Amino acid sequence: MGEEQGLKAKKEDFKAWYAEVIKQAELIEHTRVSGCMVFRPWAYFMWEQIQKYFNKEIKKLGVENLYFPMLIPKSIIEKEEGHIKGFKAEVAWVTKGGDSKLEEPLAIRPTSESVMYDIFSKWIRSWRDLPLKINQWCNIVRWEFKTPTPFLRNREFLWQEGHTVYASKKDAEEEVLKILRLYEKIFKELFAVPVIMGKKTPKEKFAGADYSTSIEAILPDGKTIQAATSHHLGQGFAKAFGISYLDKDGKRKLPYQNSWGISTRSLGVVIIAHGDDKGLVLPPALAKYQAVIVPIYTNKSKDLVLEEARALLRSLKGVRAYLDDSDKSPGWKFNHWELKGVPLRIEIGERDLKANQVVVVKRTGEKKIIKRSSLNVKALLKEVHDELYNKALDVLNSKIKTVYNKKELYDAIKSGFVAKSCWCGDESHEDELKEKLGAKSANMPFSEKLFSDKCAFCGKKAKYVVLWSRQY
Ligand SMILES: [Zn+2]
Repeated sequence: MGEEQGLKAKKEDFKAWYAEVIKQAELIEHTRVSGCMVFRPWAYFMWEQIQKYFNKEIKKLGVENLYFPMLIPKSIIEKEEGHIKGFKAEVAWVTKGGDSKLEEPLAIRPTSESVMYDIFSKWIRSWRDLPLKINQWCNIVRWEFKTPTPFLRNREFLWQEGHTVYASKKDAEEEVLKILRLYEKIFKELFAVPVIMGKKTPKEKFAGADYSTSIEAILPDGKTIQAATSHHLGQGFAKAFGISYLDKDGKRKLPYQNSWGISTRSLGVVIIAHGDDKGLVLPPALAKYQAVIVPIYTNKSKDLVLEEARALLRSLKGVRAYLDDSDKSPGWKFNHWELKGVPLRIEIGERDLKANQVVVVKRTGEKKIIKRSSLNVKALLKEVHDELYNKALDVLNSKIKTVYNKKELYDAIKSGFVAKSCWCGDESHEDELKEKLGAKSANMPFSEKLFSDKCAFCGKKAKYVVLWSRQY
């Protein structure tokens, strides 16, 4: 475990810091296939917390979980033209079974619209079959050719994909936003990360969608990351897959569809947003252990201290607490649990027994001595959550620069900011920005109103407010 020492400083060498922290904190293990990694229990637990929370909320909306197979016949995945165009470069194919060549190649799902909607066309016959609301938790394969980065850019990752079908466009569009707000809530309440809700520019929308909405997080280096998306698909897929229903008026109609997802990419946001030079800093809602008790004793006081530490553990009801009674030194334990990001450390030693107190150290920095009788771990965890959230909110607010012309816009991005500008809607500005700075539109925030009548790029009439950024 000596290798746990010596994390690179996050600010100085971010890439090295990230690679080391996810490995040493036992979140992931690399495998022999590049871009395909093991989600170790410490990371998988976080994913399970997201699942628990999200399942509860979508079930309230009448969404049911199910499971579709991962193999999609070529003829099916190619049915909706815009859709396959968007994914073609990253689809992995199964072409052989044993030694024999398959008659039709099978795509490994890069997303499940096609395989699902082919079946939806059988399930949906009349207005009585609507709305249809389903969700699945599964793995996805997208054969990225950029360098894979664990969580952020994996070839295989985990997600949920919700797919719904409505008779009314209005109902479908309302749901798009309802789900987006739910994702925002997950980021706020579980991740302690504020995000920006908005609409993607047409260029950045999901392949085959009418429009896409997203939540975007801004990380300390000024890059943004698309944290979750909710799409309104309109009727394009219904047309392509022959989904129609007989309405009350006896007429056959096309329904409106949505799809929405959050993936294990979001865990990368948590790691980058909160981590520091000592390692991970986990928000309490995602930490497998929210508090770790470290007993400090001599040979003579060992039994007595351990006995009290066990009693303390038993008293922490409704908290995911762990007593580290291993034979490692207290200093080793401090480093280890800090590296793994545990929100609270509770130290209990011989002196503390006598004084009827414990020493509490928050992973966010503060250390205090607290009387046993007034120890409120849940309140302390809430403090840690709020501190993390507020710090991330400061980052978000300090990293956005409002710009009025092209020079300001390019300068802002070059110096590590997210540029907020008014835009005329011309996609050639997006192409140029991508080519020159490797930056793109993040989204068009719902909360923003036009603050200039001129497009920052060309001076023509502005129609939208856009966030431009370098992105993960
Ligand atoms: Zn313009």
